[in-house]
Order: sequence, then structure tokens, then C-alpha cells
Amino acid sequence: MHHLDYLPNYLYNIPSIKYQAITLRNFKTIPQVQKLTGEQIFAIEVVGSVLPFKTNNYIVEHLIDWENIPDDPIYILNFPQKGMLKPHHFNRMADLIHNRTTTSEEIRKAAHEIRMELNPNPDGQIERNRPFLNGKKLKGMQHKYRETVLFFPSQGQTCHAYCTFCFRWSQFLGIDELRFAMHEADVLQQYLSKHTEVTDVLFTGGDPLIMKANTLTTYLDAIIDGDLPHIRNIRIGTKALTYWPYRFLSDEDADTLMAAFRKVIRSGRHLALMAHFNHPREMQTDIAQKAIHRLRQVGVEIRCQSPLLAHINDDPEVWAQLWKDEVRLGCIPYYMFIARDTGAQHYFGVPLHLAWQIFRQAYQKVSGLARTVRGPAMSSDPGKIQILGLSNVRNQKVFTLRFLQARNPDWVGRPFFARFTKNALWLNDLKPAFGNPRFFFQSP
Ligand code: SF4
Repeated sequence: MHHLDYLPNYLYNIPSIKYQAITLRNFKTIPQVQKLTGEQIFAIEVVGSVLPFKTNNYIVEHLIDWENIPDDPIYILNFPQKGMLKPHHFNRMADLIHNRTTTSEEIRKAAHEIRMELNPNPDGQIERNRPFLNGKKLKGMQHKYRETVLFFPSQGQTCHAYCTFCFRWSQFLGIDELRFAMHEADVLQQYLSKHTEVTDVLFTGGDPLIMKANTLTTYLDAIIDGDLPHIRNIRIGTKALTYWPYRFLSDEDADTLMAAFRKVIRSGRHLALMAHFNHPREMQTDIAQKAIHRLRQVGVEIRCQSPLLAHINDDPEVWAQLWKDEVRLGCIPYYMFIARDTGAQHYFGVPLHLAWQIFRQAYQKVSGLARTVRGPAMSSDPGKIQILGLSNVRNQKVFTLRFLQARNPDWVGRPFFARFTKNALWLNDLKPAFGNPRFFFQSP
């Protein structure tokens, strides 16, 4: 019997691979780029000058199907696409890049101006949800829902690759005022000790699992050893199972990471990995499945979520397959989100009524075990709003909605109605039904 109560990483027989970032600077050097046309390469340069672009050797070599370019969903998930910028923004940047006399300062300035028109901080994330400690506003935390505190460890504010649809895209651009960060584990501990209503801490980023295991342990220990019995659940939001599954197996501190997770579970707490899987292909590699196996063996619950994204997964078959595969691998389908009102929403967004149809059709195809999933849901300023369906009430076509989570706990679970709007992509495109001047949660 091994002294650990989970398999050591060498038994998984995974070779150690060196992480290589692929960005705007070096993407033209990878052999796969020969599969792209000159126009596609230029579009990557133009869009990648405005929105963040980073992928890596695992994704390029094992996930993207280069025989299926430009339609491959994982390619679209990682490589900037022309349609992600509206034509006037694309043309402005393309002209600057074409023109040999343009200075890099001019490109930076134009990129900044375009970004500011893309709603870089949707739903008041930065200002509205920041909590206070001893009269001081805390930078690396958000406390929006009573039971849950979001913690943004400063070392975890990047990712192993950037999703083209990411709603936190602006924090990867180094625009300081748009970036949350905090490294003091003791501030987290102090805050939590004063807030006994909090039961859950969600580590988020970026991707907290970009951190060294020892750094993450410092934060986890602040909770476990910090006399905080009211903290029952620790969640870690991550896309590492897709973007760098070696993190859990052959990276040099993979065993330390497992030990850190084990310690959380031994403390009697629930440890949930909030995994982002946008497409079933992401969980089909041998290494991703081994990583899931290892986490499950340690006792980590894996809950899966993704936005519904045009060009990537706007198909009920894809979602049904995703949820079935998740269940088969021992993961729990959790959320289908609506793409947020930021960045390239015009490219990835799916109208709300279609989102509901896709959700419903996919839901019909799976057994009860996969129906743990909730959605389609908008993580909006007042709370997480689920689209329950389309109905006819008093001869009016309406959306029925409800809060799954809300700033005010009293709003949760209350159905409400919005006028049917065909092209609505987000809450702010909706108007209350039946002539009401405002929704019940909006103050006069
Ligand atoms: S992994 Fe998450 S935070 Fe990172 S780029 Fe993708 S969506 Fe954004």
C-alpha cells in the first residue's frame, strides 16, 4: 500500500511536458499555422492587437483539429476571429497595421480606444461588489451574494490560454484599474472571520491553478487553519483540465497540489473544482480523463459550466454530448450561461429565446443524472437570472424568468416576466411585460 491515499503521479505514466505559450508574438512560428490562409493570419494579428490572445502547445498539438479550420470549435475558442471585432473597429486597426508608417504607440492608443467601447467592466464588477474591511475597500475580493465570497489571488490572474469569448478579457491586458488583485491571505482570513454568514469561498481569476501549489496552499491554509468553521465549501474556478491537464499529473508540483486538496477535504470541507468545459472535445484526451480520475480519487467534486457560444457550441447535440460525457467521467453538469455583454458578445452571443430552445432540446436528450444542470442563466448585476421559458400570458408573448441567485436573497426563486424580444442577448435588452414600468427588483 502506498503511503498516499491516492495514486502517485508516476503511476499515470504521463510524460512531463514543458508549457509553451503561443501568443501574437510567436504564433507564426508554429508549423500548424501553415494550415491558415494569409487573410486568417492577418485577422489574428488585427483582432489579437485589441483582444488578448494566448494559447499553448497542448491545445495546438492535442485539442485543435487542424484539418477542420476555420470551423474547429477549439480553434475558434483560442485563436482570434475576424468577426470578434465589429467591421469599423476591425478596419480601423487593419488600416493602422497595413500602413508601414504607423508607430506602435498609435496602435496601442487605437487598441485602448476600441477596448473602451467594448464594455470592459460589465455589470459593475469592479466597483459594486467590492467589500470593506475596517473601513477600507478590498481590492482582490467580491462579496455579492450573502453566502459566497469571491477571492482573486494576485498570482492567479492569468490563464494557461485565453478563451476568445472571455468576459474577463480586460484583466489580461494589464490595464491596472481594471484588474483585481490581492495577495494577503490574512486579509482574506480576517474578512471571513467577521462574516459568519459566508459559507463558500470561490477562488477565481484568471485561473487560480496557474499558481504554484505552495502559493495556493498558503491561501487554503489561511482558511483551514484560520478558525473559520462557518466556511464549509471551497470552490476553485479553473480551465486547467482543458488547457493544461498536466497540472494535475506530471507538473513538478502536481503531488503537492493533490496534497493541498486532500487537506481541505480532511478538514471536513467540500472542495469543488468549477471546471469550464465549452465543448465535449476538451474532455476526450487521455490526459484530461486521467486528470479527472485523479481529482475524483482525491475526493474533489468537479462541477462543469460554460457559456452558450455561437460558432463553438450553439447546438443541442453538442450540449447533450457534453453533459453525458461529464456524467460518464464522474463530473456534475452545473451551469449553461449566456455570453456576457462585453468584448466580442456580438460574435459569440446567442439570442435569449434561441438559448432557451437549445437548452431545452439538449435537456430532453439526457437522463436525470445530467439534469443537475441549470440554465440558460445570465450572471447579471442583480443576480443570476435563469430563462425558464417562453409563454403566452394575457395574449402577450413573454419570457418567464427567475433568480437562481440574487443580491437580495429575497428575490431568489420569484418568477417574473419580460416582453418577448427576438434579438435580446442580455438582461438590458429586456423590458418588463404587461406595461410595468420596471422589473420588481429595480428600484423606482
Ligand atoms: S479560462 Fe476563464 S478566465 Fe481564463 S480566459 Fe478562459 S474564460 Fe477567461
